Amino acid sequence: MAQKVFVTRKISDVGVDMLTSHGYEVTVSQKDGPMTKDELVSELKKGQYNAVLCLLTDHVDKEVLDAAGKQCKIFANYAVGFDNIDVATARARDIYISNTPDVLTETVAEHTFALMLAIAHRISESERFVRKGLYKGWGPLLLLGSDVFGKTLGVVGLGRIGARVAHHAVRGFDMKVVYYDIKRNENFEKEYGAKFIPTVEALLPEADYVSLHVPLLDSTHYLMNDTRFAMMKPTAYLVNTSRGPIVEERALLRALRGNVIRGAALDVFEHEPEIDPLLFELDNILLTPHIASATEETREKMAQMAAKNIIEALSGRIPPNIVQAS
Ligand code: NAD
Repeated sequence: MAQKVFVTRKISDVGVDMLTSHGYEVTVSQKDGPMTKDELVSELKKGQYNAVLCLLTDHVDKEVLDAAGKQCKIFANYAVGFDNIDVATARARDIYISNTPDVLTETVAEHTFALMLAIAHRISESERFVRKGLYKGWGPLLLLGSDVFGKTLGVVGLGRIGARVAHHAVRGFDMKVVYYDIKRNENFEKEYGAKFIPTVEALLPEADYVSLHVPLLDSTHYLMNDTRFAMMKPTAYLVNTSRGPIVEERALLRALRGNVIRGAALDVFEHEPEIDPLLFELDNILLTPHIASATEETREKMAQMAAKNIIEALSGRIPPNIVQAS
């Protein structure tokens, strides 16, 4: 009998094609949107699947893992972050958890840089201005922004994505890079002239742009709060393409309203998909809907990588991208 795979939402066809061409019976959720936990639990109990391809919008907790049953070998997450999954419980039940590292790094780094340039040059605000018919002619003081060139970028979390953002900053914009990470990377420091700063408190006052690239963990939850915003320069910007709860959204609102910092650009939100509507009233914030990895090329590669992890697990081999509980 064919092994069964459940995909919790429609993804790029290449991933599903890889699974079907391996002879698996693949069921893709037909819902136009993320499944609720109840829907997922009920589908898993009913389907007795051998593998699940899940998304960051699926909260894979003990109840979901229970529902998956003993025949289930893997939950392959279609994301590099895996804060949506109870990895420790999965491992205790011999269920592999895998992610999609590397294939999205360049795209997320590009999106981060796009946000940084756009908030500095007030692109989104200017576009709204033009569309509203407010443009009446060139003006020497019209919509003045900030340079990126030559400024200091503070990277919080110099992993795969953070390092590529820093690369673009140094090579493309002659920026200085300071970084904070729990692990120091002296090779990177030599190659890019970057400076390691041993605490986030010491990094914040030095940076003109602060870009967050840490995973969501207990230790990074609310990493940016009132106290930390007060440590940033009043002319500085925050960019967040990591995970929403790393920034306390209410504290960010206070910082933007009170000109504690100059601006912020966010791709992720504390209570996704809800966003505090008070943020919409501000001009010094730029918002994208969690699309930092959303290019056709990258989403195809993510689908292929998740499918490959499932194929390996169902063939009795160790999947290449399994993650451990942090
Ligand atoms: P990575 O594991 O390569 O890098 C994370 C870095 O954070 C590592 O260098 C690690 O040492 C450091 N770190 C961990 N805990 C820390 C702490 N408490 N303080 C300081 N540094 C700490 O991961 P990556 O591939 O670069 O991805 C980073 C994050 O970006 C992911 O976890 C994910 O949440 C997020 N992400 C978001 C999107 C999006 O669509 N917006 C897409 C991809 C990734």
